[in-house]
Formats: sequence, structure tokens, C-alpha cells
Amino acid sequence: MIRKNILHAGEQTKAVHAGEFPDPVTNASAPNIVMSTTFVVEADTGFSVEGMDENDAWVYTRWGNPTIRQLEDKLAVIEGAETAVAFASGMSAIVALLFHLLKSGDHAVISDVAYAALSEITNELIPELGIEITKVDTSDIEAVGAAIKTNTKLIYIETPCNPILRLTDIAAVAAIAHAAGAKLAVDSTFATPIATRPLLLGADFVIHSLTKYLGGHGDALGGVLLGSKHDLVPLRKQTSIRFGGTISPFNAWLIIRGIATLPLRMQVHQENALRIASYLEQNPKIKRVIYPGLASHPQHELAKRQMKNFSGILTFQLNDNRNVRKIAERLQIIHYAVSLGHHRSLVFYLNSKDVLQTSFKFATSGQYDSWNTFAGEGIFRFSAGLENAEDLIADLEQAID
Ligand SMILES: *Cc1c(COP(=O)(O)O)cnc(C)c1O
Repeated sequence: MIRKNILHAGEQTKAVHAGEFPDPVTNASAPNIVMSTTFVVEADTGFSVEGMDENDAWVYTRWGNPTIRQLEDKLAVIEGAETAVAFASGMSAIVALLFHLLKSGDHAVISDVAYAALSEITNELIPELGIEITKVDTSDIEAVGAAIKTNTKLIYIETPCNPILRLTDIAAVAAIAHAAGAKLAVDSTFATPIATRPLLLGADFVIHSLTKYLGGHGDALGGVLLGSKHDLVPLRKQTSIRFGGTISPFNAWLIIRGIATLPLRMQVHQENALRIASYLEQNPKIKRVIYPGLASHPQHELAKRQMKNFSGILTFQLNDNRNVRKIAERLQIIHYAVSLGHHRSLVFYLNSKDVLQTSFKFATSGQYDSWNTFAGEGIFRFSAGLENAEDLIADLEQAID
């Protein structure tokens, strides 16, 4: 239930109110959590999801659930999408999309650097099903065009990409995809809807790991696919309801609460990241800092065009990699941990040699050159939280010293 006027409200009003409504039975102002897996139904209710309509009564939580629906409605409004399908994690959303779109004999172009689990399943498991995959540096628009084949059904990008913060021009890639009769999917987890609206730039699908900025507090896994009803109504039946990667209503409720403060949080994430990136850039022990909001980012012009907020993630390289372990052990406030987008600052070191063996497989020297430009021998991926920037800088200063 989306009240019509919410679509014209401001960003923060949408984040608070979209998808929510006072409980019709109790008038409770905050949303209820409906944990029931099943619902008492009419005697003539069908047993298959086949004839299901989105306005039908609730039957079974894997098919649909009032709390999950509130999350989906809120996400659709803040992303400016016709509809949304929520999942148990970002990866379950990604897998549902790939299995929905790609059949044996099809071809997909996938960013050669992307979330590790997506990268790993498209290196082996998906090709083993007879689906052809070409990994491309999607920041190189010519390389994307050159990778297209007559059976290309999907171009899949991440911008900024995890973990190296390289950007891809969404509008340019959308034009290539559509000229080839393929769909464009954009994993926009690092950007969030506050920074970038891929659907307005021509993308067909947007993916978010709700585990990151949308939930924002590091306490609930979730994922979402956003796009048109034409694409997502059949996807919901095929690879959401039948595959079963359903988000817990409790997690949906936590993420609804997290989204309410997303625009406010993104302002502070950006401010903190910029202050920390600027501090690190002038620290003599640091070799290179990459942050889309810095003039030194190799694609800063594209960042300014495509991102209304530069988000909260930066990377830095050390002059001397023998200090990696010492820094990890000395941190007092910042957690040395994977993941990102939480109110707590998180940092994690990725060694290039290791990740190029396990997650990312390059075919050309150009791909290695591009990796080296952004990541060198290895990077600390830093997710700036909501703590006071002075405290974060002081923590880094004593750990790097
Ligand atoms: C974390 C992440 C994912 C996977 O999300 P999960 O919720 O951990 O399954 C996908 N893409 C990006 C860019 C991510 O950072």
C-alpha cells in the first residue's frame, strides 16, 4: 500500500513514511512484525503460486508477507522503481536474477571486478550450466561493446565496484545493452539510492545488498531486486518464491527501520569518508588513496556526473605492506572486519595476489593494468561509519604510525 502523495515528497520524508501505514487493527504508529509463516485462508484458496496475483490474500510467507511487502514498497519508492522483490541476502537476489534471465546457450557480460561471491559463481558454476560468460573491465566502454555477441542477454555491472571503487558509466553501458537486445543489471550497493538512480540512467534492474547501507546497522542480512513489473512479477514466482531465498520478516522490519534514516546517514558517511580520505592523502606512510569524492580519483568527473553523494567507502595502500598486520591489531575504535555501510567504521585488507587467484580472473594485460591503477599490491577497504571523524582519524593515526 503506497499512498500516492508520498511519491512527490522529499527524500527524507519518503525514507520515513514510504511503505508504512498505521496498523488497521490497533492503530499502532510503528509497523508490526508479522512473523507468521502461514495465514488462515478461504476454503477455495489454490495450492500453487501459478495463478497468484500480487493483491491476493496472504497465504504463506515464502509467497509473500505483510512486513516484507512494507519493506519492498519502501524500497521501490526510494529507488524510484515500479516494484521490488526482497530476498534473504544480496547474493540470493543476484542468484535469482541470473537464473531468471540466463538459459543454457545464452551469453552474459559481467564486470571483471565485482562482489567476490558473484565473481566466483560466474567463473565456474554458471558456465558449467552452459551459459557463456565474458568478464570485462566495464569502465572501458569500448571493451563492453566488443564483448557483445548475438546471444548476449545480460550486462552486469557494479558501480562503484567492490572492492576497488572503479566506476562504470551506467548510461553508456545501458545504450550498448539495449542496442544488443540485452538487459542491464546494476549492483548499486556502494552508491545507494541517495547517490545514484540507475533506472533513470537506463538500467533494467537494480540490486542492493540491504545488509550494507540500507539496513545500515550491521544486524540483518537482506537483498533486493528493483525494476519493472513486467520483469519482476514473473521473476518473483520463478526464482524468488520457488527458490526460496525469503528474507525473515524480522530482518525486513529491522531494515525498514534502518532505511528511515538513510538520507541523513549518507550525508555523514560521505562527510567522514572525505575527511578521512583527505587526511590519509597527506600521510607520508600512505601510497595512494582512492575515493570517488577526491579530485585524485581517476574517474572523478564521472563520479561527479553519476553520484549525488560519494558514499562512505574509500581504499588506501601503504608504502610498506609489512605494516598491514600491525595496523589491523592496533585499531581501537575501528573494527577490523569485512562488510561495509554500517554505523560502525569497518576496515579490511585485501591482498591483490590472493584475490586475483581466488575471485577475479583476468584475460588481458589491460585488465591487470586497470587493477594495478586502483589497487596496487593490496588495499585497505575502509567503510567510514557515523562516529566523529576526529576520533576515526586519531585511531588511524596511532595505528599507522
Ligand atoms: C555485500 C555485497 C553483496 C552481497 O550481499 P550479501 O547481503 O552479503 O549477500 C553484493 N554486492 C555488493 C556490492 C556487496 O557489497
